[in-house]
Amino acid sequence: MSVTWLVTGCSRGLGFELVKQLASESSNIVIATCRNPDRATALQDLRYGAIGMLHIVQLDVTDEESIYASVQIVEDIVKEKGIDYLYNNAGIDNEDNAFNIKSEDLLRILRTNVVAPALISQVYLPLVERSARKVIVNVSSSFGSIGVDKGPYLAAYSISKAALNMLTYKQAVAKPNITVIALDPGWTKTDMGGPSAALEPHESVAQQIQVVTSAAKDSGRFLNYSGRILPW
Ligand code: NDP
Repeated sequence: MSVTWLVTGCSRGLGFELVKQLASESSNIVIATCRNPDRATALQDLRYGAIGMLHIVQLDVTDEESIYASVQIVEDIVKEKGIDYLYNNAGIDNEDNAFNIKSEDLLRILRTNVVAPALISQVYLPLVERSARKVIVNVSSSFGSIGVDKGPYLAAYSISKAALNMLTYKQAVAKPNITVIALDPGWTKTDMGGPSAALEPHESVAQQIQVVTSAAKDSGRFLNYSGRILPW
């Protein structure tokens, strides 16, 4: 039976790698979303080698019109299958500490990293509930954990991921019929993670897929890419 995935922020980085790995499985129907499909040439090129089905849909996670428009398109693609895995991956960060945050940066980061996953999950919930697996993955970070000491840096980003973790918990307890997890992909070599990061994108993503496809028992938890439970 086919498994449907919708991933946000697929033009590059972890979202791109996730789509690449998912589209290499014949059982997967992958909806790769990004804000500028015309400029996402690497993502467009993945369609030629895809073994599973790959659809590219415009979705700027900070634009409500774009979110609502995407649902119409996605519903026509997935129909009664719904969405098995809704992967809120798109995210942004900023160099700052708690005493030099600019309000516009904090608001911009909260809008992308918290408001967007909240609204997208809400708008896509009927499609998630229609599916067999019913999983929402909120891509978080150990920077969002108070229990993992990451020091004073990336303050706005850390605040946003802590809020995303609480969103995850609230979604999980509000809807016991679905699975919702917060997932730390690990420090990975992407534009965000930088060249010194510990993991290659393919390493993080291969393990993320293992974790999310066996997450039914983990709703309301904060896990890392290798399945370890992280402190909030
Ligand atoms: P990148 O900066 O490499 O990629 C970010 C992706 O998000 C891009 O595809 C970007 O699209 C997309 N994006 C940003 N804003 C929007 C928007 N408004 N609408 C749609 N897409 C958007 O980051 P990573 O791939 O490294 O990060 C992916 C996720 O993993 C993030 O949530 C991040 O916080 C998290 N994470 C990453 C870690 C790492 O070490 N890499 C560690 C911990 C967590 P565009 O090309 O259009 O800008």
